[in-house]
Amino acid sequence: MEKFKRGGKEMRMLVTQDCNYNCVMCHGEGLQEEKEATLSPDDFAFIFRVGKERLGMDTTTLTGGEPLFRKDIVEIAKNLHEEGAKITLTTNGRLLTRRMEVGKYLDRINVSVHTMNEEKYEDLVQVKNSFHSAMHNLRAFRQAYPEVSIVLNTTCIRGFNSEPDDFKSLVEFAKSIRASIKLIELFPPDRTDVVSLEEVTTILTALGFVPTETELRKRKLSDGQTTVSLTRIFCAEAVNSGDPAAFCNQQNDVFISPDGFAKPCRSDSMEVDLNSALRSRNEDEMERLIKHAFAETGRRCVYDRNNLSEMEAPETLTEKYGERAYVLEKLEAYRGVDAEEDVMRLDVVQFVKDHENCFDRSLSTGHVTGSALVVDPGFNQTLLTHHMKLDRWFQFGGHSDGDWNTLRVAMREALEESGLKSLRPYSGNIFSIDVHPIPERGDEPEHKHYDVRFLLIGDPREPSTTSSESKELRWVNLDDAARLNPSDAMRRMVEKAKRLK
Ligand code: SF4
Repeated sequence: MEKFKRGGKEMRMLVTQDCNYNCVMCHGEGLQEEKEATLSPDDFAFIFRVGKERLGMDTTTLTGGEPLFRKDIVEIAKNLHEEGAKITLTTNGRLLTRRMEVGKYLDRINVSVHTMNEEKYEDLVQVKNSFHSAMHNLRAFRQAYPEVSIVLNTTCIRGFNSEPDDFKSLVEFAKSIRASIKLIELFPPDRTDVVSLEEVTTILTALGFVPTETELRKRKLSDGQTTVSLTRIFCAEAVNSGDPAAFCNQQNDVFISPDGFAKPCRSDSMEVDLNSALRSRNEDEMERLIKHAFAETGRRCVYDRNNLSEMEAPETLTEKYGERAYVLEKLEAYRGVDAEEDVMRLDVVQFVKDHENCFDRSLSTGHVTGSALVVDPGFNQTLLTHHMKLDRWFQFGGHSDGDWNTLRVAMREALEESGLKSLRPYSGNIFSIDVHPIPERGDEPEHKHYDVRFLLIGDPREPSTTSSESKELRWVNLDDAARLNPSDAMRRMVEKAKRLK
């Protein structure tokens, strides 16, 4: 039970995806698709109770979206509090005074305050007149609840909030409301706008801060009055540990989605359905499902290349579809960006279900292929290949040759065709889908490629090498990629990649 105690693992309750802000860097806690908020305050309390009584978890975090957007958030917090939960609420603070009563049940609030500059703040969250009201609410909350911890969460971004004066104004505000500060390093570390934790430490030291804790995931500095902790997002810490899958399995939390699924990984669509155990209030079954979700943490880590060969799909799909379950699970979790792509997604699902040998090139009506759009860590450029035979610019990709793991196919093709050793998946989830006809050639009749695409990150500073299939490789700006390959499929991928910037 030890690892579930305070400071250990917990179930983070993602109570809603709705938000009153539209932050440029929002990651939605890893949820890709729209989820209906179907869980009631009693449901959240039941899940927590099983976690507490059976596994010894005593903390939980209410997160979102913006949790205060839920009208029943006070009831959710009250019920969890009555079950003995120590509760942290993550919020942007803008609705705090509207739901002030929630403070009665909280131990801590984590508030996103990335800058004390009004104009920059409102540019980032994309809501006018939001800065002063959020700051006012934080002051009012502090007055009403002197005993609740307040932590200001600040992501450090070069050119945005990386100057000593930026840190100084944040520290001053923190002091005025007796808050501590959590400074978060951007990920991945090869982005050009990353401010490293080492650099932040130098700035803080010059402002009179001294290190008080240096252990991994607990680095802290203090000036005697205000504590600043330095942190990376969870997956970055996992990558830095050298064994991301094991680190994640030992330390990661599980997210409970607003529609009753437990989600073990921020980058993968795999979920454990809690709904039937919830409806029947079956504590044994709920315990089994929660344990199953925690056992899955790290197992599909996209940062651990060995994992690519061991990933498994949920038991029910596997029973019916065998190895095809892996791609089916991802296809079912994916949503196209427009109706046309969603129709293609359904076509691929049907094709995979109907054909046991869908990954074989010998299937003459068509086959599942794997592709990869390779982008730089800042999502500015993409590496395209000028295809020798087709004389056109494309992303990387090719035949599955019997391999059911389409992410592995996409990785293999991109590695072979680009020579880039730095390649890694952005996530284990599908990035795009395209179904297109391939004209008759030689013995091969006309057929279709059911192409499942993933996003990979590569380092443009690394030299790339052309394969025998390519005339030339070229890093180009995303907009230029859409000009070099003016297809709907490329346009969709470019638009999506730009949104990740
Ligand atoms: S398994 Fe998922 S959540 Fe865990 S470190 Fe890897 S990508 Fe991150």
